Amino acid sequence: MAYRITVIPGDGTGPEVIDAAKRCIEATGVKVQWEEVIAGQEALEKTGELLPQAVLDSIRRNKVCLKGPITTPIGMGFRSVNVAIRQALDLYVCLRPAKSYPGVRSPYKDIDLVIIRENSEDLYAGIEFEQGKPETRKLIEEISKLSKKKILQESGISIKPISRFGSQRIARFAFEYALKNNRKKVTCVTKANIMKFTDGLFLKTAREIADDYKGRVLFEEALVDNMAMQLVQKPHNFDCLVLPNLYGDIISDLCAGLIGGLGVAPGANIGKEIAVFEAVHGSAPKYKGLNKVNPTAMISSGILMLRYIKEDNAADRLETALKRVLAEAKYVTYDLKPHRDDPSAVGTKEMADAVIGQLKK
Ligand code: NAD
Repeated sequence: MAYRITVIPGDGTGPEVIDAAKRCIEATGVKVQWEEVIAGQEALEKTGELLPQAVLDSIRRNKVCLKGPITTPIGMGFRSVNVAIRQALDLYVCLRPAKSYPGVRSPYKDIDLVIIRENSEDLYAGIEFEQGKPETRKLIEEISKLSKKKILQESGISIKPISRFGSQRIARFAFEYALKNNRKKVTCVTKANIMKFTDGLFLKTAREIADDYKGRVLFEEALVDNMAMQLVQKPHNFDCLVLPNLYGDIISDLCAGLIGGLGVAPGANIGKEIAVFEAVHGSAPKYKGLNKVNPTAMISSGILMLRYIKEDNAADRLETALKRVLAEAKYVTYDLKPHRDDPSAVGTKEMADAVIGQLKK
């Protein structure tokens, strides 16, 4: 029986990396019936909407989606299609493994970290008040009645909500993930010393959940500024990191840097019953249609997807094939060559062909 999976090609270089990932997944022998839907720029041109209802309906129906990057429109009143999808489907986990592969140039070897970022709350909840608007002035006035601290009149305000419910479910996910994947330690990363009622609540809740896993998974706490330094100095000291939304976003890009950059960093957005798999990188619009960008991040996101649907054998085989192509460093895109203008670099399509070639060996 074939799996029905929603696929969103996305904007910019999205369709190219999605095509590469789809072909690699199909080459594992896992049968997939792709249900293609459009969101982003193409959808706006064809339907007048950036995120048509049909996209959310398709993902809800199929429960699994492979998604290309979508360009964030500027000045459209839409914060981001990517954030809107995560919020509409309550995909509260953003899972971003950062793993080194031989052949990929990076300052470190043998990195194997997993970033588990809360995906629904915090400063990304989208509750913002624009400078100068009447409602913003009213809010500033109310706050001045409730707090001894003053906010300057002509300020913009972004709200940072962090709930007990949201913190509990992400911490629980982190510990369950650690257990299921033979991980030793979960480090909770916050700025709880300053933001006592938001980050403080996140940390307090994580400590409570950690108690349920005592003796099975180690628990550790860190402040985000110090964590940024430690990740650069001694990244091998860490295993799984659980963080509120904003720090998770920043730290996962830092970790992508540790393993060789955006071209190789995969991700997954996971909810109770639905999961959307996408690379950490964006639509890289300047390379659109050039058959140039690295498909590794999208193929690796496909590997995460195969594991999610419990096709572990196919996932292992695809990972091995990808590893071989990366280690050989011959049929790889420009960003994986010693020099960016290396004439021996191949295109997105040809790199995927090389992975498929390895799969068939
Ligand atoms: P980007 O990740 O698209 O590109 C930044 C640079 O990283 C590129 O110019 C390129 O040099 C490099 N890069 C990215 N992907 C690569 C790949 N696969 N192979 C090789 N090099 C790669 O980031 P940006 O330019 O800040 O964002 C472009 C658009 O994408 C924006 O509209 C942004 O909002 C959006 N975006 C979408 C998502 C998503 O869909 N989840 C994520 C991030 C950014």
